[in-house]
Amino acid sequence: MNSSIARIQIKQSILLRNALNVPRRCMAAKTEDVVTHTGQKWQSDDYRLARFMNAPKQVNKNWAVKLIADVPPREVTERIVWCDGGSGPEGHPRVYINLDKPGDHSCGYCGLRYTKKDCH
Ligand SMILES: [Zn+2]
Repeated sequence: MNSSIARIQIKQSILLRNALNVPRRCMAAKTEDVVTHTGQKWQSDDYRLARFMNAPKQVNKNWAVKLIADVPPREVTERIVWCDGGSGPEGHPRVYINLDKPGDHSCGYCGLRYTKKDCH
């Protein structure tokens, strides 16, 4: 009878020790967080970093805003142009862009820029 109680107490102590080890494992996984394209960055002791204990956080360094900014604006002679983002599955609904005001005008869907060429 006493030995069965002793076994139960040993099992309970093992379970308690394992339960107490969980935060230690989380603490051991502290890593520096990577900034995402939205500027999100967590502090090293943030509990949300626990999801990256088994695999590193994957952040794409090729942000779409930077990639589309590298594409030079398309010079056109018309006052109004349309953009569909390139036909096919990579495109978007056709939108018309008015180029009467000076400067670059970007498409609201894909970010391609258009500028009216001076014809004077
Ligand atoms: Zn577009």
